[in-house]
Amino acid sequence: MKKVLITGAAGFLGELEYFEFYHHDVSKFVHVPGHLDYILHFASPASPIDYLKIPIQTLKVGSLGTHNLLGLAKAKNACMLIASTSEVYGDPQVHPQQEDYWGNVNPVGPRGVYDEAKRFQEAITMAYHTFHGLDTKIVRIFNTYGPRMRLNDGRVLPAFIGQALRGEDLTVFGDGSQTRSFCYVDDLVEGIYRLLLSDYHQPVNIGNPSEITISQFAEEIIRLTGTKQKVVYKNLPVDDPKQRQPDITRAQEILGWEPKVSREEGLKITYDYFRGLSQEELYKSKHRFE
Ligand code: UDP
Repeated sequence: MKKVLITGAAGFLGELEYFEFYHHDVSKFVHVPGHLDYILHFASPASPIDYLKIPIQTLKVGSLGTHNLLGLAKAKNACMLIASTSEVYGDPQVHPQQEDYWGNVNPVGPRGVYDEAKRFQEAITMAYHTFHGLDTKIVRIFNTYGPRMRLNDGRVLPAFIGQALRGEDLTVFGDGSQTRSFCYVDDLVEGIYRLLLSDYHQPVNIGNPSEITISQFAEEIIRLTGTKQKVVYKNLPVDDPKQRQPDITRAQEILGWEPKVSREEGLKITYDYFRGLSQEELYKSKHRFE
């Protein structure tokens, strides 16, 4: 049986049968007894409201945490996969985003703490591959959703569904013309799994190319939930990317992967999950950052 160390991802992704849980901060030295076959480094805040709230920890987990885990991977001769992000492209001036686009990131803007940590993470991972011959993989994850996301996560899908379930208006930031492309979680996991088993070391975009404006997305959630509420407009967060869509040619060619779950299907499954939450969970979640 293969032994895998997974950092983070305990809530949304975690559905493992055989596992041991360690409560540990990976930006400190990481000790794991025995052999290891794979390390999957997912630990990091990933929602903008989270990394705005804990910017230093976000920088540390992406930089120091990655360094510690690369050291561990080297000591164990394990394969290391890092979770990078579409945020390495920043507010992209190339559309859709291909892996060979270098990005447009503001290093000192509020999102810089996440974007630059992830860019450093890619750089140090590639250096361990080149200089130590470590077997490394880099997945650039685009917006992903599915059951078990936190309702108070802050990201747009749980925000809109939570608002609809509580009978509140849906908050669109800016004029809603910015675009995103939402990937259902099962598709993402399949893509990551294929990358892990591949012998490819350059970054690979995993995401669903079906692009939509945030206004249209709000309308879709209104139709899905049947809410009588309307859309209200709030200020656009600083440096909020205007457009985002993965070019998945590389994943198609190298991994034989493409997403299978349509947004309509994925949203229905996700809504059914959120609908099943208790009233307490529905309201508790609302106050997390208030
Ligand atoms: N957004 C919104 N209303 C919300 C939450 C987010 O209009 O209540 C917008 C946000 O400004 C961004 C998009 O939805 O343009 C996706 O935001 P999210 O936080 O999900 O992730 P991002 O893709 O920005 O990392």
